[in-house]
Amino acid sequence: RAFLTNIEAANPVLNAYVEVTADKAIDMARASDARLQAGQGGVLEGAPLGIKDLFCTEGVQTAAGSNMLRGFVPPYESTVTANLWRDGAVMLGKLNMDEFAMGSSNETSAFGPVVNPWKSNSSNAELTPGGSSGGSASAVAADLCLAATASDTGGSIRQPAAFTGTVGIKPTYGRASRYGMVAFASSLDQAGPIARTVEDAALLLTSMCSFDPKDSTSLDIPTPDWSASVGRSVKGLRIGVPSEYVVDGMPDAIQKLWADGMDWLKDAGCEIVPISLPHTKYALPTYYIVAPAEASSNLARYDGMRFGHRAEGTASLTDLYESSRAEGFGNEVKRRLIIGAYVLSAGFYDAYYVRALKVRRRIAEDFDRVWDQVDAILTPSTPSAAFALGDKQIDPLQMYLNDIFTVTANLAGLPGISVPAGVDANGLPLGLQVIGKALDEATVFQVAGALE
Ligand code: GLN
Repeated sequence: RAFLTNIEAANPVLNAYVEVTADKAIDMARASDARLQAGQGGVLEGAPLGIKDLFCTEGVQTAAGSNMLRGFVPPYESTVTANLWRDGAVMLGKLNMDEFAMGSSNETSAFGPVVNPWKSNSSNAELTPGGSSGGSASAVAADLCLAATASDTGGSIRQPAAFTGTVGIKPTYGRASRYGMVAFASSLDQAGPIARTVEDAALLLTSMCSFDPKDSTSLDIPTPDWSASVGRSVKGLRIGVPSEYVVDGMPDAIQKLWADGMDWLKDAGCEIVPISLPHTKYALPTYYIVAPAEASSNLARYDGMRFGHRAEGTASLTDLYESSRAEGFGNEVKRRLIIGAYVLSAGFYDAYYVRALKVRRRIAEDFDRVWDQVDAILTPSTPSAAFALGDKQIDPLQMYLNDIFTVTANLAGLPGISVPAGVDANGLPLGLQVIGKALDEATVFQVAGALE
C-alpha cells in the first residue's frame, strides 16, 4: 500500500508505470501473508515489484511500449515473471519502456517519455532515466517499487541503472528464459533485475533464472544462490581495465570515477591489470547491424492479422499489412526495420550481416583471450551522466553512442552489472560496470558488492 500511495503521488510526473495493477497487488500480498502465516514463505515473499511491459503477464496488458501491441492481453505468463511469483513476489504494475526496447532514453515509447527522479543541481531540465528500461529504473529510484524486472539487448538494464543510481545486472546469455518476453534481437536479449542494492539484485536474479525447455537457447544448468557472493572478500582477484574503453570526449567525472573504482578495489586487495580488447571500436557498428537484422525478422509477426494493431478499411491484403505496420510502429522501430531488412537483403547480406557476425566473433574472442589474466573487468557503465529529455532525440547516431560500453557484453554473451559509484559535478549519479566470464555471475556480484 505504501508503494501504491507513492505511485499515485509521483507517477503523473514520472510516467514510469503504464498500468498499475492495484487490486492484483493487494490480492497477491494477502496470499503472501497467508503463506507466511502458514510457515511456507518463499525467498521473495511479499516483495512488491514493477514489471517491465515486455514480460507477458497473464490477463494484464503487455504492450512493449508500442501502439502495435496496445490492448494486447497475453493468455500466458513469461517464465521470468512466473519464477518471481513462485518465490512470493507481488506485482504492482507494468513499467514504461522504449518501443520494443529500442532506445537509450525511453523517448521512443508510444506511452510517452519517462522522467528521471534525479535533477541536475545546475539546471531545471527534466532528465531521461535512460532506456530502454527507463520505467524500471525511474520507478526503483523514486521508491515506486522495491525492485523491477528489466531486459538488456545492448545495455538497457545497465545504462538506466547508471542514470538513476540503481543496480542493474544482465546475466550470461541463456541464464534467463526468453519465453514470454517480447522479442527484440533474440541472440542478444536477456532479462535481469534493476534494484536498490547489489544484494537485492542477486536475490532477484537467482529467482528469475532457470532452465526452460520452452526457450531453445536456455542453458540446462543449475542456478546458484548469488546472494551468497555479495559481501565475500575480493582479496586476490585480478581486475582487468581495458585501454580501449577510454573514449574521446569522455567527461572528467567519468575518468575520475573509473580511477576511484580501481583504487577502491586495490584497497580491498585486488590486483588491477591493464588489458586490451582490440575489437572494441567495432562493437557499436556490429551491434547496430545484428540487432536491427534480428528485429526485422522478429517483428515480421506484427502483420495486423494474428494479434496487435489492425488498420481499418484497407483495400487488399498487402494494404492491410502495410497500413497496420505504418500505423502501429513508431519512427525508431521503422528505422531499425528498414536497416535490418537492408542488411539481410540478397545484395548486402554478405557485406553487412555476415561481416558483422564475423566481427562479433572477434569481439567475443577478445574477451576469451583475457580470462587467463583477469577474473573480471571494470569499466564505466556509460560515457555520460543522464542527459536532458529531447537532447539526443533528433540524432539517432548520438543516441547510439551512449551504448558504447554496454553492447560488448551482449555481443559476447557475458554477464555485466552496473553499480552506482558516485556523482558528477551536477550531483547526478554515475555507474561502474563489472563484466565477468560466461556463467561467472558469482564473481561479478562479489566485485559489485565491494564497489557498492
Ligand atoms: N540502446 C540500445 C538500442 O537501442 C539497447 C537497447 C536494449 O538493450 N534493449 O538498441
